Order: sequence, then structure tokens, then C-alpha cells
Amino acid sequence: NVLFCNYVVYLFTFFPFKIGEVDEDYAPIHTYQVCRVMEQNQNNWLHTNWILTEGAQRVYIELKFTLRDCNSLPGGVGTCKETFNMYYYETDEEEDRAMKESRYIKVDTIAADESFTELDLGDRVMKLNTEVRDLGPLSRKGFYLAFQDLGACIALVSVRVFYKRCPFLVKSLAEFPDTIPGSEASQLVEVVGHCINNSMPLYEPPRMHCSADGEWLVPIGKCVCKPGFEEMSGYCQVCKVGFYRSQLESSACSKCPPHSVARQTGATSCSCEDEYHKIDSDPPNMACTRPPSAPRNAISNVNETSVFLEWSIPMETGGRKDVRYNILCSRVLPDGRGLEECGPNVRFLPRRVGLSNTSVMVADLQSHTNYSFLLEAVNGVSEMAKDYTKQYVTLNVTTNQAGIVVRKGYTGKSSIGLSWAEPDRPNGIILEYEIKYFEKEQDSSYTIIKSKETEMVVEGLKASSVYIFQVRARTSAGYGAFSRRFEFQTSPYCEYTGTIQSTMASIIAVAITLALVLLAVVAGFLLSGRRCGYSKAKQDPEEEKMHFHNGHIKFPGVRTYIDPLTYEDPNQAVHEFAQEIDVSFISIERIIGAGEFGEVCCGPLRLPGKREIQVAIKTLKAGYTEQQRRDFLWEASIMGQFNHPNIIRLEGVVTKSKPVMIITEYMENGSLDTFLKKNDGQFTVIQLVGMLRGIASGMRYLSDMGYVHRDLAARNILVNSNLVCKVSDFGLSRVLEDDAEAAYTTRGGKIPIRWTAPEAIAYRKFTSASDVWSYGIVMWEVMSYGERPYWEMSNQDVIKAVEENYRLPGPMDCPEALYHLMMDCWQRERTNRPKFDEIVCLLDKLIRNPSSLKKLPHLEDNFCFCEILNIS
Ligand code: AMP
Repeated sequence: NVLFCNYVVYLFTFFPFKIGEVDEDYAPIHTYQVCRVMEQNQNNWLHTNWILTEGAQRVYIELKFTLRDCNSLPGGVGTCKETFNMYYYETDEEEDRAMKESRYIKVDTIAADESFTELDLGDRVMKLNTEVRDLGPLSRKGFYLAFQDLGACIALVSVRVFYKRCPFLVKSLAEFPDTIPGSEASQLVEVVGHCINNSMPLYEPPRMHCSADGEWLVPIGKCVCKPGFEEMSGYCQVCKVGFYRSQLESSACSKCPPHSVARQTGATSCSCEDEYHKIDSDPPNMACTRPPSAPRNAISNVNETSVFLEWSIPMETGGRKDVRYNILCSRVLPDGRGLEECGPNVRFLPRRVGLSNTSVMVADLQSHTNYSFLLEAVNGVSEMAKDYTKQYVTLNVTTNQAGIVVRKGYTGKSSIGLSWAEPDRPNGIILEYEIKYFEKEQDSSYTIIKSKETEMVVEGLKASSVYIFQVRARTSAGYGAFSRRFEFQTSPYCEYTGTIQSTMASIIAVAITLALVLLAVVAGFLLSGRRCGYSKAKQDPEEEKMHFHNGHIKFPGVRTYIDPLTYEDPNQAVHEFAQEIDVSFISIERIIGAGEFGEVCCGPLRLPGKREIQVAIKTLKAGYTEQQRRDFLWEASIMGQFNHPNIIRLEGVVTKSKPVMIITEYMENGSLDTFLKKNDGQFTVIQLVGMLRGIASGMRYLSDMGYVHRDLAARNILVNSNLVCKVSDFGLSRVLEDDAEAAYTTRGGKIPIRWTAPEAIAYRKFTSASDVWSYGIVMWEVMSYGERPYWEMSNQDVIKAVEENYRLPGPMDCPEALYHLMMDCWQRERTNRPKFDEIVCLLDKLIRNPSSLKKLPHLEDNFCFCEILNIS
């Protein structure tokens, strides 16, 4: 890359002193020599011609010379020197010879690497030295060089002056001119290249950098052939006919894509054939396209007032992937009056136009109406194809009766309030509704309940569980189709983990209750104040929905137990909650037990239109008083309010004939205490816990309803053939009169002492918390297979022992977790006892994790009872 400028300057000889005529290669040479080594005060100058810089800012001087070794001179070296000096003088124009030495600036003192001796002279071999020095920055047009001899013996053979430059270069279709480097050694000179013919810069002009050494460095950017041209052998050649090149990024011309042509050379794009189109966003290499044909195989599926339309992609998509579908909906007017557009009330799911899937749901159509749907396929070029006749497929559809839409009301842990509107054009007067429900994904077994109203509360559901509900109406013409499925979830329970948490829960519950009572009082105050200027506008609409019943705050959708005492006429209460059954539908087959009011029998119940079921029939023996009749039917008025899988179900009552009967579902295995005694040790812990779970679930339902049982004991639990336990024996009078376990307390009331919480014994404080105490005793009964609580201890001793904080010991082989739960149920402070929902929650956990039931309690846990024994 280094180009010499051929500035080889030959100097004049002042004092010719030939020391040789040939160089190392024995070629003849001319030299300037001086050798006045024997004389004093030498100052001999030799200067060059004026040398033009040609714009170079840094020049290089290469000197070739020979120099005599002073030591080799014969007869004393005297003033002999072995160096000489090089100077320069910058000037813009050539000057005459009388140049002043004082103007010169010293470049360097030049010494020889090798000097010659007498011997060399004899051999006539020249020892040539080469030294290079650079000079700069130069700013004038030219300069002189000068050499000063101060008494050496030298011969200057050649002086070559040159500068370096970056030569003309063509790189990446860009030309870079001859470039002189900068004056500094590390300097780079940036040069912008020029794109060659039919090329253009890609993104930015191409650039290169010229170094001080004359090298091109750091290329930036490049040129590419213009559209319509392609690069070939470093030049840009035009695209041939039928070919195009549109993008700077692509290198070669491409053949026109299908259905397009390029009729001239140098095409930057191809134009579409007739009837074919392209949109701006189509890539240049994409074929020209056409609108699609009509959708195929369109079918409709009517579901009440919704229609599901489905079709296949068109035979001809027009060569495009962006096929979309539009639906035109028209209502067919009666009596051939033509069509009317569907209007905004009809819903299209996901939408009406621009559908990418081949289906759509059309909802909210009118029932029993004819509709005509036009299905059209479009693609990106449909709009451009003006002369293209649109192709449709038509679907004619007739809707059915509108379905029932079920809405969710108040949701509890075990209940969901439902409401629905009467269906549109129901085809007759609606006699009743049937509500079918089941736990999601458990549709093998479902429950059906009936309602005459358009709302109801479904009870006895599991907490945190999703249920499916469907409703259908019955008219004199029969049942309509079930509505679509509606999914609703019950509320979750708070986790029960032990006494402390339950205490906290109680505190929170008390706080919430207080807050609600306060709210109720304030609401009551405000409501009563309405007469004296209460502003309705300020009333919270939610507050209006709250109702009070029997001292309980009743939320909409939550059913609350209604005390039959609130009815003036107890017969009215019975018929409010219990269905009257015609005695002809019942057959009494055998006696299964003895109740206080008469025999308990069993037999089939055949209600018209229903399948036959086995029922228990409680009878009221002849010769009863009116009070006895009332007391007997009292239980039915209570039972009839409940609907839960763990509460004995009332089928109805027979009051219009004698004997008066209460008909309930039949429980094959009778009462739990006898059943367990009969099957001592026969069940796994999980089976026992399953029974307990059922009882707790039934009790949770009762306490949610605001009903306090007061006589919860294994003898009052009935067991069916599937080991499902159901709570039975309702009614205050029964506790007092019927229960053999009930004993008179000091305050006079008859109470089943062993099952009853201390506060209920002491001051008749019967609450769900006292039911929880009893539940703990039932747990103990179950885990000990029907053992009598506190064995043969007298009621008085039991009261005393419990009062002194002694508790029943864990039954044999009773898992620690269960005994711990029993002990929690027997907390003296009733607010510290777990709630039934917490008990269900815990039992569910234990059932799900059976290993938690493996741990048996330590012996010390029985300590408290040992104390009881001492006392007794
Ligand atoms: P009660 O008058 O409810 O205490 O009933 C007396 C006895 O009749 C109970 O102890 C049970 O053995 C039996 N019993 C009562 N109701 C039913 C029923 N629904 N299914 C089976 N047995 C029952």
C-alpha cells in the first residue's frame, strides 16, 4: 500500500572524494561525499531541491549512506566524527540558493549502524547504511532537506522522500478515492464512499477509514443495487422481463409469483393478472389472489332461542389465508311479508363479522320465530374485487321456546339461593318448576326438587363445591326441556385447626353478629323514622333486602327455621311445612319400634307419578288428647322445614284420617347407638369418621337454619343401609317427655344430663354451641361403639365432675385427632368450642388424609377421667 512518490533526490557534490563506484551489488553509483577529518571546525552543508509535498502532511525520508570508522583512520583521529545531522525548511515557494542555515530545523542526528575501515576500502566493498526518518505535520507547499557534516567521513548514496496514501478502492459497490492520511501516526481519516452506477446506499452511506500507514480500515455501511437491478460481478445488472427485484435486502431478481407479470426489464414489482389482486401488506413474493367462494356444509343447531351455526371453509379460498366470515341475520316476517334485519338485540358470539372460526353462536333470538342467515366468506382482497359477485350460503332456522335463565341469589356454605323468570310463551299455565342439581362432574346422581315459585334455596350442599343447576317448567301439557346448565359454587368454610383459632373465629363471629345487630337496630331506627321524614334516597338498597325472622337476621335466600310456636294454629304450621298424604298411598307392613305416641312401623309409600319408596310411619295411638296430637305433629312441622341428606326427611303427614301419622324416609339400620352396639368393632376408623362427618354436616345445616336440637345423642341418629347417618328426633316436648335419658334438673327442666353442656344444665342456655358439646359426646359414643357416656356414674356425679373440669377419656383405639376434637367440643367456655362447619371441615381433612388418624393419644390424656373416678 505504500506508494513511493519517486522523490529520489540526488544531491550535488561539493567536495568530490570518490570512495567507491559500485554499491553492494557492484552496480555503479554516484554519491556525495565529504571527508575532512583531519581539519578543524568543519561545518559542511548539503541541501536538496525544493520538494513539493503534494498535500502530504507527513513525509518519510530514507537515507542510504556510508560512514568511515574514525578509529580506522591512519595517524590520529583528531576531529573525526561518526555522525551527521539532517535538517528541513518549509516554504511555499522555491527560493534561491542563498538560503540561511539558521532557517533550518533539525530533524535528527544520523549515526551509522555500520562504518567502514581501511580494509573495506581495500576490498572496495561499501557498507551501506539505511535510515528512515519521518517529518510532519507539514503545512506548506514544499520543503528543503539539508545535511550538515561536522567532520565525518561520509558518502551519501541516496535520499528518497515519500509519503503514504490509501489507494483508490471499490468495495461493496462503493468507490473510495485516493486518500492522503492525517499528520498523526494514530489518526484515521474517514472517507465517505460513492455508490457505483445503479446502486444506492443501504440504510446509510458507506464509509471507510484511512490509516497513517495507508491502509483502509473499519468499513461502515454499504451500497446495494437499486430495485429492478441485481448485483453481478461487482456491478448492478438490470432485471430481465418476467423478473423483478423490489427489496434492497434481496440480492437477485426473482421470477414473478403466480398470477402476476413483469412486461419490461428493470421491474421493481409484478402486476396482477385480470381478476387477481394484492393488498399493500401482501409480500411481493406472494401470488396475486381472488375473493373466496361461499362457505360449505352450513348447518344450524337450535337450542331454545339460540342457534349455533357451523360451516366448512370454502372450496376456493382465493389463494389467501385471511379468510373471514360474516353473518347476515334476518327475521322472516309472518305471512310472507319478507325479511327484516335482526337488529342490535341479537347477540353473536364471538361476533357477527370478521369471524375467523367456522362457527358462531347467535343468542337472544325471539322464540318460535323463523330466521334466515346468510353466511359469506371474505378475504383481504374481497373489497378490491368490485366486479366479483358475492357468494352466500343461506340457513333457515326456527327457534324454540326461550329457555329458563337461572340466577344465583345469596350463597351460603351449604345453600344456594336460585331465582329465574317465567319462560317466554310457555305454552300454557305453569303448574310448577322442577330443579335438578348435582355436584359438578358427579352427574351420575342428581337431586330433583320442585317449586311453585320462581325462586328457591337449595340446601344441604357441600361447602366450596360447584353445583350444576337446571330448571324446567311443567304446564298442563307436560314438562318442557331443562334449561341449560348453570354452575354455581357454595361459599368456603374457614379452616378449623384447634381451640385458639376457634376462639378467634368466635370473637370475629361475635363481632360480626354485634355489627349486624347494630346495623339491624340502626336500620330499624331508620325505617321507623321513615314515617317521620326518613329519606328513601339515602337508604342502602342492600339494607332493604335484610329481613328479621324469629329474632334471626335473615338474608335473602337463606332459609331460617321457623318455630311452629309462632303460628297461632299449630295445624296451620303442619300444613305449611308438611305435605298431606292420602292414607291410601301407604301400606303398613311391620312394626319397627315404639315411640312415645305410638308404634313406629314401616312399609311402602306409593305416591302417584313417583316411584315407590320404603318409609317409616309413626303413628299417634288412639285416644289422644288435642294437646298430644299437637305435640305429635310438632315434630313434623319442624322436620318439614329441613332438606338435607343428613337430616331425616319428612315425606308428609296423614292428618285427615286416623290414625294420624308422620311419614319419614325409612332408615334400615335403625338408631345409631343400637346399631353400633350390635356391630361392636366391625368398622374401620374411616367408616366411623364418615358417620361422624354426616352427623356434623346435618348439625351444621341445623345450626345454619338457626335450629338448636337440644337432644343430640347417638340414640337420636338413624342409620340407613348405606351407613348414612341422619339426625332425627325433633321437637322440644320430646326432650322433656320422650327421652328416657332426660332427667329433671334442680331448676325443674328435664335434660339429658350426660349429653348436655354445663351452661344448658345450669341455666338452660341451649345454643348451637351446646349442641356442639352434645356432638362431642356422640363422637365418644361412636368411637366406643355405643358405650354409655360416663358409664354408670350418676347424673349428679357427672354434673359435678364436669363442673370440676373432668372430661371423658379417649375411647380405646380412638385416634388422637378425634379425641382432641371431642375435648374441644367440651370446652367450658362455649365460645371456645368449634363450630359445626369447622368440625365438618376438620373431619373432611382427616378423611382425605387417613394417616392423620393413625396416631393414638398418650396415656396422660386419660388423666382427667382418672380424677373423675376418684371422685365418684
Ligand atoms: P322415635 O319415636 O323417633 O324415637 O322412634 C322410635 C324408634 O323407631 C327409633 O328408636 C327407631 O328404632 C325407630 N325409627 C324411628 N324412625 C325411624 C325411621 N325413619 N327409620 C327406621 N326406624 C325408625
